[in-house]
Amino acid sequence: MSSSDLIGAVEAGGTKFVLAVATAAGEILARTRMPTNTPSETWPAMQQFFAQASADHGRIGAFGIASFGPIDIDPASPRYGTFTTTPKEGWSGARFHDALGQFGVPVVVDTDVNGAAIGEWMAGAGRGCRTLAYTTIGTGIGTGVVQNGRSLMGISHFESGHIMPPRDAVLDPFAGICPYHGDCLEGLASGPAIERRWGKSLDQLGPDETALIARYIAHLASTLVLLHMPDRLIFGGGVMKAPGLVEAVRRETASRLNGYVSHPALDEGLQTYIVTPGLGDDAGITGAIALGRQAIATG
Ligand code: ZN
Repeated sequence: MSSSDLIGAVEAGGTKFVLAVATAAGEILARTRMPTNTPSETWPAMQQFFAQASADHGRIGAFGIASFGPIDIDPASPRYGTFTTTPKEGWSGARFHDALGQFGVPVVVDTDVNGAAIGEWMAGAGRGCRTLAYTTIGTGIGTGVVQNGRSLMGISHFESGHIMPPRDAVLDPFAGICPYHGDCLEGLASGPAIERRWGKSLDQLGPDETALIARYIAHLASTLVLLHMPDRLIFGGGVMKAPGLVEAVRRETASRLNGYVSHPALDEGLQTYIVTPGLGDDAGITGAIALGRQAIATG
């Protein structure tokens, strides 16, 4: 590999793939998007894009992938880069390393939320953080924790959406929609849970409903503080666009911590501690480019 090698980046979402070829400095030279169909349709289209972009712009030295899951992201696993139990038709067992094998270069695979976290750390609202926790609250809920530009994992990627916040059955009789847990965080506060509970989206709800969702999210926020002591928490995703929600999450989180964590990073009112994303829709592809850069740096 040479320093002039380009990076192939893939943001693989449940509904669309965003593909890009970038320089190691992050300049995007070619970019496209395509619907997420089955691998038999999406893989050849992806291969064709990268082959053409490489012919136009130069050699691709590594690929960085930020993908929907569940997917094996353990580099030491023989199934690294393989979709595992995803209900998405045709994708279980599909492997990025097979799809991109013809290029003969390293392929780094991480989750979509970890990719967005790395993107925000590198170029968005998480710049300058040593430890950053990025959470998306949307169709699903997940958190990526980034330390010095690398996502943390254990035996698998983290699953913050399935923690169990306390639920007052009088205040909130809704039993939740998670097929595994019922009233876990995702079962109570994801976009689909909100629509099922109230029959409307969060931007149409009143302050009491917003406050209820904020309490569940604040349970995660305060837990992230206690477990990881991040420099900052970013909350993104469709649900977080609801009017007044991030302000309510700040208030509820401060109330839960109750002054116990005293550090200059946690400002009065948590205005600079709990923030919304800086990159918007570009976080995922920016993170995928960063993953490819890691592959070139360590490969
Ligand atoms: Zn669950």
